[in-house]
Amino acid sequence: MVLRQLKPAGVLPIRALTVWLLMSLAAIGLLAVYKYTSGVSDLSERTRSMEMLLAERLAQHDAHLSGLGAVVRMSPDEPSTSIQGLAENIIARYPRITDITTITIGRETVRAISYGKASGPAITDLRQNLDLTGLEKIGDTSVRPATEPHAYEIFKLVAPERVLRLRIDTDALLDMGDEGGEYSSTLSLNGTVLFETSDGSPALWTASHALDTGNHSQPLHLTVSRGFRLNELCPPHLALPLLAALAAITWLIMKYRDASRERQSQERRAMLLEQEAKLAQAGRVNAMGEMASGIAHELAQPIAAMLSQSQAAKRALSINRPDILKSAVDANIRDARRAGDILSRMRAYVSGAPARIEEVRLTEAITEALHLVDADLAQRGITLVVTQSDAVGTGHIDVISFQQVLHNLVRNAADAIAGRQDPKITVDVRRQGNEVLVMVADNGPGIEPSSLERIFDPFFTTKTDGMGLGLPLSARLLEKMNGSIEACNDGGARFTIHLPTGVLP
Ligand code: ADP
Repeated sequence: MVLRQLKPAGVLPIRALTVWLLMSLAAIGLLAVYKYTSGVSDLSERTRSMEMLLAERLAQHDAHLSGLGAVVRMSPDEPSTSIQGLAENIIARYPRITDITTITIGRETVRAISYGKASGPAITDLRQNLDLTGLEKIGDTSVRPATEPHAYEIFKLVAPERVLRLRIDTDALLDMGDEGGEYSSTLSLNGTVLFETSDGSPALWTASHALDTGNHSQPLHLTVSRGFRLNELCPPHLALPLLAALAAITWLIMKYRDASRERQSQERRAMLLEQEAKLAQAGRVNAMGEMASGIAHELAQPIAAMLSQSQAAKRALSINRPDILKSAVDANIRDARRAGDILSRMRAYVSGAPARIEEVRLTEAITEALHLVDADLAQRGITLVVTQSDAVGTGHIDVISFQQVLHNLVRNAADAIAGRQDPKITVDVRRQGNEVLVMVADNGPGIEPSSLERIFDPFFTTKTDGMGLGLPLSARLLEKMNGSIEACNDGGARFTIHLPTGVLP
């Protein structure tokens, strides 16, 4: 089971909260837009039905005017019981018609008779001038707001000098008083507001529809509005469950994302481990190749020497020179031992075994090592000058490794001065503080300055038949003895071996 690492406090909640807030804003926005558009379509629906109702009622007024007009014409003498009967009937059935009056215009007086009341017709002498503009021929109508509020009056010339008047209560016209909170309506006549309802508290947003009734005798203008409040656009009974659902979705999304990140990082870790394993394998193969080259390099010299000594022995045999034969066989034995030693040291080196440190007299170890190359140097006409004194004393070294290093340095020096005038190699051994320095110098061309940094890198060589392993191997062998090596140019090349403290006097 993988135990999840705890996130730093606050990081996940803040990110989750941000995601939740953004999603909530989007969802609430969509809910509000949905509520608004459905509210606007309700408003259109409502306006349409109000328009139809209004048109129907205004047509009824026209019909009443026609019916009453006919009765008025048939009743020259007023007050008339037929007009009263019809008016009573109309007022009882249509409560919005609050008054039915006939107006008779005489020479001196204007007499108005109000019909429809249970108490019977009421006669009033108007005397004052009555504005009857627009009533010129029989059938003409005019309409105007009544003197009392929330009412308007329709006048119709029904007979010569006889006008019929209906008063309409606008409160009852559309039953608008019961329309409910979110809608408001305004009914106006020629710019005068007859009726107005308000939808109460201020709204965030308001949508309106306006229409003209299109009725010739009653040119009313109706405006219906709907206000949208916050709790209508975003009703709590929908918004709260929505926010809770979004919180749950956010939580699930975060969990899923964390799980997939964890999976990805596990995959990455596995991939890195695999790459590391491949690199380690490549490194091992490389090191093995390097070692194999190193072994071949080191063995090439004693094997070549044994070959030439064996040929010399064969020649000595043919000319019957046992003395030469003996020295050649001795040399072969020495070189074969050396090859064997090299192999056993390389095996120890590869297996990571420590160097075989022993206390030896350094002058003896150096003399023995140089003895191996003596004959070769003499053959190549190279002078070897060795400066050392017994004061150098003993040292704790791995003799074979140390001799290998020295052998490498002398052989490189010999290569560098081959074919030069007075070729000379000097080996200088001295104490300096707690160190013993072994310096091998030649009078060759020196090391190319650009190569100086790289000569201890494996496989760096400037020789056509070189392997570039002598110096790196020497450096490693000295490291195992807690020593080191450095190179510089001083006339020719000079290599200095440092054998550290622990080298005893
Ligand atoms: P190799 O002898 O196979 O080239 P080494 O690691 O022993 O490998 O030497 C590496 C290089 O260092 C040589 O190729 C040469 O360029 C340079 N070098 C070593 N010793 C000397 C020297 N005494 N004088 C000039 N150059 C040298």
